[in-house]
Amino acid sequence: MSAVRKILIVGGGIAGATLGCALAKRGIDCEIFEIKPDFSLAGTGMTIQGIALRAFLNIGVVNDIADAGWHHEKDAIIFTDVHGSAVVDPPARNLVGPGYPAMVAIRRQAFHEVLSRAVVKENVLVRMDTTVSQLDDCGDRVEVTFTDGSNGTYDLVVGADGIHSKVRTMVFGPVRSLYSGFANWRARWTA
Ligand SMILES: Cc1cc2nc3c(=O)[nH]c(=O)nc-3n(C[C@H](O)[C@H](O)[C@H](O)COP(=O)(O)OP(=O)(O)OC[C@H]3O[C@@H](n4cnc5c(N)ncnc54)[C@H](O)[C@@H]3O)c2cc1C
Repeated sequence: MSAVRKILIVGGGIAGATLGCALAKRGIDCEIFEIKPDFSLAGTGMTIQGIALRAFLNIGVVNDIADAGWHHEKDAIIFTDVHGSAVVDPPARNLVGPGYPAMVAIRRQAFHEVLSRAVVKENVLVRMDTTVSQLDDCGDRVEVTFTDGSNGTYDLVVGADGIHSKVRTMVFGPVRSLYSGFANWRARWTA
């Protein structure tokens, strides 16, 4: 396979934006195509920890995430019973390094703004409101047609378009999702 010099990333979410920054830092030309017209997200939050935070250290945004989010010196997720008594209180492992939080709780919108700023800083081309309509595997390159009628040639196409990935369906055919039985309850603690 010839050297990968130009990459198309379909989807500008967490994976797509992070990959775009990481590739740009290595001098690889990449473009992100995002189907949404803007990056407005619902106001739910998330907890970023462990190897994910370490990845954000590598693309230079871990301090921005810590500043935009919330973290505590104990840095732990405590699992309680219905009365609030700790059932499991595992110590959080800091995989980022001394001086950094082991985990950060952050609003999704704030998190995405950090990633969006990083993408702009790394000069990654982002096209909104557009997605792929056709992928042609030409051996050492992929010819791509976009929904706005434009075309491009890439060494590699990355499907970072989420759990219902269109790219995955285009390459591998339809996939039936199965519910694994996992559930997650969230509550906000107000003292
Ligand atoms: C309720 C909930 C709570 C969660 N809490 C946490 C947490 O606390 N910590 C944690 O680490 N993870 C959490 N997760 C998981 C986390 O949200 C996902 O792992 C993460 O969003 C996956 O990132 P992604 O970039 O692969 O996909 P997404 O975040 O889904 O991004 C996909 C992007 O691709 C775009 N897109 C979709 N289709 C197309 C298309 N055809 N063309 C172009 N663009 C397209 C979308 O608009 C979106 O911008 C949670 C998930 C849920 C649902």
